[in-house]
Amino acid sequence: MTELETTQERTPAVPAWEYADAPESKDVVRLQDRYGLFIGGEFVEPKSGTYMATIDPSTEEVLAEVPEAGPEDVELVVAAAREAFDSRWRDLPGKERAKYLYRIARVLQERAREFAVLESMNGGKPIKESRDIDLPLAAAHFFYYAGWADKLDYAFPGRSAKPIGVAGQVIPWNFPMLMAAWKLAPALAAGNTTVLKPAETTPLTALLLAEVIQQAELPPGVVNVITGAGETGAALVAADVDKVAFTGSTEVGKQIRRTIAGSHKRLTLELGGKAANIVFEDSPLDQAVEGIVNGIFFNQGHVCCAGSRLLVQEPIFEPLLEKLKARLQTLRVGDPLDKNTDIGAINSRAQLSKIEELVAVGVEEGAEIYQPVCDLPERGFWFRPTLFTGVSQSHRIAREEIFGPVLSILTFRTPEEAVEKANNTPYGLSAGVWTEKGSRVLWMAERLKAGVVWANTFNRFDPSSPFGGYKESGFGREGGLHGLEPYVELVP
Ligand code: NAP
Ligand code: MG
Repeated sequence: MTELETTQERTPAVPAWEYADAPESKDVVRLQDRYGLFIGGEFVEPKSGTYMATIDPSTEEVLAEVPEAGPEDVELVVAAAREAFDSRWRDLPGKERAKYLYRIARVLQERAREFAVLESMNGGKPIKESRDIDLPLAAAHFFYYAGWADKLDYAFPGRSAKPIGVAGQVIPWNFPMLMAAWKLAPALAAGNTTVLKPAETTPLTALLLAEVIQQAELPPGVVNVITGAGETGAALVAADVDKVAFTGSTEVGKQIRRTIAGSHKRLTLELGGKAANIVFEDSPLDQAVEGIVNGIFFNQGHVCCAGSRLLVQEPIFEPLLEKLKARLQTLRVGDPLDKNTDIGAINSRAQLSKIEELVAVGVEEGAEIYQPVCDLPERGFWFRPTLFTGVSQSHRIAREEIFGPVLSILTFRTPEEAVEKANNTPYGLSAGVWTEKGSRVLWMAERLKAGVVWANTFNRFDPSSPFGGYKESGFGREGGLHGLEPYVELVP
């Protein structure tokens, strides 16, 4: 044996790190026992008189009660947004609107830690993600669209961009603050007023954002926040709004489309996905492994653009799988507020059941499951990072969105086969391509039916870059200049 070989043998594949606890303090968050609806610049009690509890999914502890807005509340909130549109916001010069957006962005930066901790407490995501990704990106979205508010004439040369009116915006639980920012920033920059409905399980950062709206002294009624479950969302969509922006499941997206068919309402839908992450034999394997892990285990896999189908070129299947399994052993599952945590809590009991069900189906259908050994906390909702090999395209785990930390691995031989398999899905939100060859990246990107194609990286976001789907992943784009279009009426 050479000296190098003996050293390699003595080095364990996975170093046995002993991590000390590194908890982020909750002191920065001040919870109220009970919250109000944010209507016309004030927190008010719901006319419905009903409240629902919102919990910490990592402990199942109740954090607070939030209102369940009923039909009368929805009517009031839309009227408040309409009044603000007609009397205040629509005719405000763009440079004045921009000042408010910059203010929101700066306050978000100032209060970023408070928001990040609350986001992790209410949603279950690791603090390192809410701190380093969700919050900085949310602030960046406000900064970015603040920049457009007084430049709409340059954004659409030769045409004049008028606001549409009142936007009803319904968002999911996986990126509560970031999705709120994606919705609010372009709408406000273009001169619309809005009613935001966060998801049932994650209302708290949206309500904290309502405080920021007060702090930034936005005119009352320009931004309103109502909490509630699916029924509240459905009532908002059906109410007297001019534009509906929805991010969530394809199933609900279809219902919304039916509700507003034939009306004047404009619609954008950001729905589900089943992205292919495609690794060619010439790709840098270690880098690809990091990209695969980030692609499917980021935010517990609760990511619409998650790289949930790994397509590996046959010659590197074995070595890649070995590296991937070793890497999975090092992932730390547990307390979302521990700064070392890689995988936090599953967002809700319902989502955990859905993941468990689909994983059981995967096993029944004959795919081979791999999960690293790791302890899970006793209370709360948890799922180990999971790989499936021996997956065929007809398996449900290869077709349906699991929305959890579960990766299905398939193989391919030629680029043509990779494209065919990647596109063999009703979805089309994102894709990843790993290869040394730039020409191959471009060849693939031209053929992949996906709104975003990442090359030698995954899950990269920037406010200036449009994001959105093909096919059943929805239509309309958020981010960039494209993200302004759904919020303006272009007139000659
Ligand atoms: P969901 O059930 O569709 O919920 C999304 C939002 O719509 C929630 O606020 C929800 O309220 C509300 N809602 C439920 N039923 C409604 C109805 N009939 N009319 C109007 N609103 C209604 O989705 P989810 O389970 O929260 O989120 C997971 C899904 O969202 C996944 O499929 C994922 O791919 C997709 N997603 C897509 C993107 C994207 O950008 N394309 C981003 C994130 C998530 P409740 O919370 O009370 O149910
Ligand atoms: Mg739901």
